[in-house]
Amino acid sequence: MKSEIIFTGTELILGQALNTNAQYLQQTLAALGVDLYFQVTVGDNRKRLVEAIVQASARADLVIIGGGLGPTEDDVSREALAEALGLPLEENPEARLITERFFRSRGIEMPRNNLKQALAPPGGIVLDNPVGTAPGLALDHGSILYILLPGPPGEFKTMVDRQVVPLLRRRLGPDVSVIKSRVLKLCGIGESKVDETLGTLLRSKNPTLAPTAKFSEVHLRITAKASGPDRAEVMIGGVERRVRELLGRYIYGTDDETLPEVVGNILATGGLTLAAAETCSGGCLSHLITSFPNGSRSFKLGLVADLHRMGKFFGFEQDFGKDAAEILAQKIRELAGSDIGIAITGNGGGIYPAGGGSITIATSIGDVILSRELTLWGEGSELRQRVVQVCLVLIWNTLQKRTGS
Ligand code: AMP
Ligand code: MG
Repeated sequence: MKSEIIFTGTELILGQALNTNAQYLQQTLAALGVDLYFQVTVGDNRKRLVEAIVQASARADLVIIGGGLGPTEDDVSREALAEALGLPLEENPEARLITERFFRSRGIEMPRNNLKQALAPPGGIVLDNPVGTAPGLALDHGSILYILLPGPPGEFKTMVDRQVVPLLRRRLGPDVSVIKSRVLKLCGIGESKVDETLGTLLRSKNPTLAPTAKFSEVHLRITAKASGPDRAEVMIGGVERRVRELLGRYIYGTDDETLPEVVGNILATGGLTLAAAETCSGGCLSHLITSFPNGSRSFKLGLVADLHRMGKFFGFEQDFGKDAAEILAQKIRELAGSDIGIAITGNGGGIYPAGGGSITIATSIGDVILSRELTLWGEGSELRQRVVQVCLVLIWNTLQKRTGS
């Protein structure tokens, strides 16, 4: 089954509202094994919506339209569907009951313009909306199934779960295929090196293997389409093994795992503790590490100050730079009595993160002190996140070497 989904709402086009319904529906269709080749967003404009429906009808056998089922003038999805298919709209008694029920249950008189929500083309099957005023609609026309759903995310999700999924399952029959994905997360390697190493694996059709570059991370998504979840799992496992053979030493986690969480887990497993002295990262590293139970347990001490105050506190005088960061990493480790000490300095030693200058990150583990100097652009929280991300990669690398894995 080839699907196309159309979202309507001028607020979605202007970037005033995030299209969260899209993500929900995409994941649902993938789990059902329904192919999705195109997704279109149009404003609240009848002419353009008709255009989008006509276009979708030429290349899909399932067209789902989300939004624009409200009672106001700018809600035009019913009208646009009827126009695109050359069908009239008439009052549907079942739809009227759903809309009336909503008002009755709240003891409110129904405004006349809500009657608009009871309109449907002949032959349409009304989809119950237990949480709002707008009924949905399923309509078979030619060889295409059209589904209309209301836009408010609470209503949209409820109706996808209760109405759309059972309907599609019935249509798909017992031999439904599934689409499953796993994301392998890498750090300490660039996207082009990943590309070069994987070579022809990246051209594989099923499962597909797709890299996306994040700041200082590369994510590899393996997606398999198969006759059932177990088969998909086996196919994903096969590709994952090959990727791990080639790039295993850069893979820090999978799916929802994040680098601060994984670092915390490695620390806890190894019974290691950590302390951090942060200038321009403003406590951001401490915050991320302690956002997880294992990281919190392994965290002994965090200090935020500018370099001058750090120097006064620890009794050293050192200009901003590599040496200062290294001394600081050692001092914070000694003060906390932890296994690992981290120092982040930059921006001339100040706390506010402004890029363009050199930032130094140092780790002190036992007698070994490692440091990295980098130049990062940007400022404020965006720069801070990058600094901390680089720092986490350095900690992860150091821990990998230590545990010899
Ligand atoms: P509508 O019935 O389409 O006018 O939508 C009603 C409300 O739902 C508005 O507040 C919209 O911003 C919100 N909404 C509509 N479509 C979406 C969508 N695709 N994702 C998230 N919110 C939406
Ligand atoms: Mg709208």
